[in-house]
Amino acid sequence: MYRGVVPARGLGAGSWSGWVWPARLGVMKITRIAAYRVELPLKEGSYKWSGGKMVTVFDSTIVRVETDAGLAGHGEVCPLGPSYLPAYADGVRAGLRVLAPELIGHDPTELGALNRRMDLALKGHPYVKSGIDMACWDILGQAAGLPVCALLGGRFGDDFLLYRAISQERPEVMAERVAAYRAEGYRRFQLKVGGDPEEDVARIRAVAAVLEPGDRLVADANTGWRMHDALRVARAIRDLDVLIEQPCATYEECLSVRRRTNHPLVLDEVIDGMGPLLRAYGDQAADAVNLKISKLGGLTRAHQMRDLCVELGFAMTIEDSWGGDIATAAIAHLAHSTPPEWLYAATDFNSYVTVSTAEGAPRRVGGRMAASREPGLGIRPREDVLGPPVVDVGEAG
Ligand SMILES: [Mg+2]
Repeated sequence: MYRGVVPARGLGAGSWSGWVWPARLGVMKITRIAAYRVELPLKEGSYKWSGGKMVTVFDSTIVRVETDAGLAGHGEVCPLGPSYLPAYADGVRAGLRVLAPELIGHDPTELGALNRRMDLALKGHPYVKSGIDMACWDILGQAAGLPVCALLGGRFGDDFLLYRAISQERPEVMAERVAAYRAEGYRRFQLKVGGDPEEDVARIRAVAAVLEPGDRLVADANTGWRMHDALRVARAIRDLDVLIEQPCATYEECLSVRRRTNHPLVLDEVIDGMGPLLRAYGDQAADAVNLKISKLGGLTRAHQMRDLCVELGFAMTIEDSWGGDIATAAIAHLAHSTPPEWLYAATDFNSYVTVSTAEGAPRRVGGRMAASREPGLGIRPREDVLGPPVVDVGEAG
């Protein structure tokens, strides 16, 4: 029996010898787009990064796209507070109210056309579009009877590597947390620095002292240093095997630092599309980049960037700004379909928060995770956690 497929009503679906084939692609229509607001408290109580920025409870938006074929897909957008990237939680909902009416009646499985329509209806605001795009990949996978991972190129191996982000705290606290997460199985760690340069050096040294051979350490300044700070930190940790991520706010500052240090450099916040990625390639401005799904506008653009990174030789961190079970599922499908030589690490955001929003979401095992083998994203939202919709456009299919 073909699983995960609901035949469309009068749209060419049928059966033969008990095998139900999917609704013919290209005839499905979006009938309703709804969104739900979910609060995701952190197990550690807070998450702190450069410039004194902090989140205690994430404000996440789960998007539901319904179709006339009886299929529904889900996506999630969860900005890292309002002052990290140009994105904020209420902005997701406001943008969805603009976009949703433009998409009713259109085919969710024609993802290029769908993204074009979104771009014509709302200029910019890629994070708003990400949840819809993710939900439509979920629908495409269900219609095809394939996990999104397969549609993105196929699965590499049994699972993939995760990193653990370490909230900015005093050096000894960060070292204790790294040791504890190391004991849980993580082998890659991303320290939140970008604070006082002297204390950041102490943070990096304290953590490096508890690592074992084979572990990897990234010092992520999240744009928090001036160029002179970044260079002083880099010189003070010259003897350590550490990658430096997004030291300064602008591309030009990061490039200047890059040219005057020996540490491998990761670019994150400034790599928000193909243009900056190609520029970074031309300048050899980075050794790796961080691809966040919502920063790029969804899985469609994130996987285009992923494929280009493989061709250009950039290793990648694959993740999102934040999220719960559904964003983590999307990350898992993109990460698992990435050649492991190019996947520096991915993130399991759902293990950082106390609320589960969906059944079937991937769960980390030690420091690794695998994408679902179910069709689509492989998740089933917990209706009781979602509550009533805060955006509701169109009519139930
Ligand atoms: Mg980063």
